Amino acid sequence: MTEKTNLKTATSGISNSSSAPKPFLAAITPAQAKDFIEKNGESTYRAKQLYDWVAGKWITDPAAMTNLPASLKEKIRENFLCSAVRIEQNNECADGSRKLLLSLFDGETVECALIPALDGRMTFCLSTQVGCPVACAFCASGSAGFVRNLHAGEIIEEYLLCCRLIGKAPDNVVIMGVGEPLLNYSNLIEALDTICTPDGIGLAARRVTISTSGWTPGIRNLAEHGRQWNLAVSLHAPDDKVRALLIPSKYRRDIKDIIAACKLHRQATGRLLTFEYVMLAGINDFPEQAVRLARLAAEADAKVNLIPYNKANGAFERPSKEAIKKFENNLKAARIPVTVRVEKGFDSSAACGQLRSSAETRKRKQS
Ligand code: SAH
Ligand code: SF4
Repeated sequence: MTEKTNLKTATSGISNSSSAPKPFLAAITPAQAKDFIEKNGESTYRAKQLYDWVAGKWITDPAAMTNLPASLKEKIRENFLCSAVRIEQNNECADGSRKLLLSLFDGETVECALIPALDGRMTFCLSTQVGCPVACAFCASGSAGFVRNLHAGEIIEEYLLCCRLIGKAPDNVVIMGVGEPLLNYSNLIEALDTICTPDGIGLAARRVTISTSGWTPGIRNLAEHGRQWNLAVSLHAPDDKVRALLIPSKYRRDIKDIIAACKLHRQATGRLLTFEYVMLAGINDFPEQAVRLARLAAEADAKVNLIPYNKANGAFERPSKEAIKKFENNLKAARIPVTVRVEKGFDSSAACGQLRSSAETRKRKQS
């Protein structure tokens, strides 16, 4: 078998369950802008103006494209889905972080977050699916069920909307919102390739981190694609037996396979690898597990990010501060670079999928 895994295997048959009625304006390329302008009998220079509004100024509402004539604005509206992602809720916290509930063109919702660091750097956390088919035992996105993949245009629009909101591009983007990005592979790649187009939206590839639950066919495809995106793998346990308690079998791959795919990604891209590890009391917080995790991290040349569990559906408990510190120290003793995720002021809706699942519960109660 070759290392190349075809797209069908990588996405495992998951498709867009909701086809969009028109192309998304957010995903427009210079060639498509040119084609659209020509077909509509407009002057050629209008194509560059249109593309600049979207890629350069993050604007996807024709009404705000002040240098375009009203007739052209109308044609854009007729031919494209404009401003196709809207803010439904904007939760702002004292520490400056924000969590948005976003509504999509078909009424579905996803979340994204804008997270400032103390030094002023800004990170956007974007979603790639409505719900998640992996359904990890500790995660609100999974327990809310899988609805559909996001289109590439919706992922791009999420990014543009965040830029508009704060009036600047982010320093980093993490694909750690709702969904398993590598199960929506082709839309993810189209979106990130667009966001990282040097003469377009222009985010540097090295500023992007894709987080996966360990879907190895997708990691191998990413390695082959070769862009300089960082990889974060949600390992959560140093052995397959404990991992099986947390991640259902359908999309779970063996740790051995995950390490092999990570090494391939590193060889192909030279980029950073992080193991994410949600800390769950009495499940994966034992000192001997830290020792085994350290061995895996050393083998894969990964740093470790410990994520204190955020109570989502009550089935697990977060370890004590002391237990987390001890686990961290055991990794440090083995010379593994380790960070503990600092909690932002999101309170009860901090973890992936929690804002959306509480909104869905409200909707159900109202209907
Ligand atoms: N599906 C991808 C990316 C989205 S989840 C993945 O699993 O990696 C992003 C991170 O949030 C993952 O590491 C995930 O394990 C973590 N996470 C999910 N639910 C959580 C919870 N209740 N508490 C803490 N971290 C959680
Ligand atoms: Fe999906 Fe990631 Fe949540 Fe698991 S942790 S259910 S893969 S979003």
